Amino acid sequence: MGCSQVMENGIIEREATAIEVSMKCPACSIGEMEIISGMVLGSYPAQYPHKCNNCEYSQHYSGVQYPYIKYQTTISSGL
Ligand SMILES: [Zn+2]
Repeated sequence: MGCSQVMENGIIEREATAIEVSMKCPACSIGEMEIISGMVLGSYPAQYPHKCNNCEYSQHYSGVQYPYIKYQTTISSGL
C-alpha cells in the first residue's frame, strides 16, 4: 500500500508513519515519564534522568529517552 519513489541518485523515499513511544509511570500508572532535558549522566550507555509528569516520580533509563518518535514504513508485508 505504501508509496515509494526511487530518485535519480539511488536514494529511496518511502512513506512512513511516525509513532510516539512513551513510558507510563511505574509508580502511579497515570503519568508518563519525560526526559529532564539538559541532564545526562556521564556513563556508558548514557543514563537519562526522567520524571513523571503526574507524581514527580523519577527514574533513569539507560540509552533511551522518552518520549521518542520512531518511524514505520507503511508498506505492508507480503506485497
Ligand atoms: Zn507517576
